[in-house]
Amino acid sequence: MNPLQMVDLKSQYQRIKPQIDNAIQGVIDSCQFVKGAEVKTFEQELAQYLGVQHAIACGNGTDALQVALMALGLKPGDEVITTDFTFIATVEVIALLGLKPVLVDVDMATFNIDVEKVEKSITPRTKAIVPVHLFGQCANMEPLLKLAEKYGLYVVEDTAQGLGAEYRFSDGTVRKAGTIGTIGCTSFFPSKNLGCYGDGGALFTNDDQLAEQIRCLTNHGMKVRYHHDMIGVNSRLDTIQAAILRVKLPHLDEYNRARLAAAEKYNAALSDIDGLETPVTSAFTTHIFHQYTLKVKNGQRDALKKHLDEQGIPNMVYYPIPLHRQKAFEPYMTENDSFPVSETICGEVLSLPMHTELDDEQIERITAAVKSFFER
Ligand SMILES: *Cc1c(COP(=O)(O)O)cnc(C)c1O
Repeated sequence: MNPLQMVDLKSQYQRIKPQIDNAIQGVIDSCQFVKGAEVKTFEQELAQYLGVQHAIACGNGTDALQVALMALGLKPGDEVITTDFTFIATVEVIALLGLKPVLVDVDMATFNIDVEKVEKSITPRTKAIVPVHLFGQCANMEPLLKLAEKYGLYVVEDTAQGLGAEYRFSDGTVRKAGTIGTIGCTSFFPSKNLGCYGDGGALFTNDDQLAEQIRCLTNHGMKVRYHHDMIGVNSRLDTIQAAILRVKLPHLDEYNRARLAAAEKYNAALSDIDGLETPVTSAFTTHIFHQYTLKVKNGQRDALKKHLDEQGIPNMVYYPIPLHRQKAFEPYMTENDSFPVSETICGEVLSLPMHTELDDEQIERITAAVKSFFER
């Protein structure tokens, strides 16, 4: 019996160990630790995989989001609309740049931004919308793009949890998450669907000028060495991480399929339980299951969590507190803000182990433990 973990990076590594070890050793032998050739090559391979003109690597997913907003030339006081239910990084960078985060409630079924509620939050100061492809399925991009066009807004996709997911437009066009808006941002944090062995991130765009701006911003605002055209940051992907990602990128689709297969087995075992809702996938998107997240109804979430903890079944609450309730964002909230859906789901969500190495015996053990709670 393999021990259960939320994410099993070790078993995944074991399957590609010779190639990974080789790639790392190659970088050490070259001593090109920063801006080595592997970085450029990885950027090209990633751009090709996504079907986007430009992929620009950077230090992490949070930097990617920050640089995206900087590249768009947003000014302090500009409003940026995003979701109330996401990892903090999405909103943090908006505030950090002196922009005003405007939070919007989410869709009960998919946990993604409720597009119907976005338009009401648009004001003359709104400059951008940042949808997050949460847990591995795309937010509803087509109506968001229509709104963006109507009001002249940029769209920055946070695809840290959605790399490899595909969005289908009503005319049948299919695009990969992160290549649909003005700029896409992702993270290669180890537990992400395409994870490196440390920190890493990237930005995507089809706009040549924006790509150049992004490259310049991630490199101290510098195009020609020691000539600084703008205030930038230092945000780079280490060559070792690029070399690792070059080994893993060709496996990404297979990794995402393994996650989907595990999710389908969870669904088959858990979908008929009263008081439990298995994940819902929208018709316009594939789901790559960065997380497998249940909704536990009737105020039973914490009791189920305790039950699983006692049985040694790993589980996590992503996320326990909606962003509008975070102390850090108090100054941005007003009396009339209301988030009934995110309030509800933060009390219901429970994520089960999800990674590329889950076997049938493990899934059986996990689902049996969940079922035993409802049969008490
Ligand atoms: C992980 C994550 C980020 C941040 O990525 P880092 O590489 O950890 O900085 C941003 N947004 C979402 C939705 C994430 O899941």
